[in-house]
Amino acid sequence: MEAKKLMERAIAFHGHACPGVAIGVLASKYILEHGSEFSIDEELVAVVENDNCSVDAIQALLGTTFGKGNLIYLDYGKNNYTFYNRSNKKAIKLSIKRSSFEDRDLSREERMQKLLNTPPEEIFKIENVEFDPPEEAQIHESIICENCGDPTMSTRVFDYKGKKLCIPCIKKFKNKK
Ligand SMILES: [Zn+2]
Ligand SMILES: [Zn+2]
Repeated sequence: MEAKKLMERAIAFHGHACPGVAIGVLASKYILEHGSEFSIDEELVAVVENDNCSVDAIQALLGTTFGKGNLIYLDYGKNNYTFYNRSNKKAIKLSIKRSSFEDRDLSREERMQKLLNTPPEEIFKIENVEFDPPEEAQIHESIICENCGDPTMSTRVFDYKGKKLCIPCIKKFKNKK
């Protein structure tokens, strides 16, 4: 599919047009064009290294979402995207090239258009990587926080001065000191 058509779908989800979304569109376009290796279903897992605008394009176009557990966020501050196909155990990593950031004198609009007119292969370094996806999200039982009463996933409840508390409540008590 054309980058412009994909961009329209991504904007409908994201809410505005921006170079960040264009980067996500290009990464998605590459995966969509390699559909035989990466089918768009629950077996596709995306690992993203930022939480910026680009990730909305990936959620909208590839269906890898937080809710389904097939979108994993690593807080590395990089425009890098790794895709795993659990069915055929293939993995590919798209890392943005330094050259993609060298035209800072362009306006936002110009930069977005330029990105959309460039093949993904020129924007990203693309390499096959080892199939080693992060573990699937586990379902944990809920525990009631002894302060606010919210049922909270057991791995997010901690002992604080003899009480089992959720993270926001622990923060509140710590700030009071
Ligand atoms: Zn944006
Ligand atoms: Zn609480």
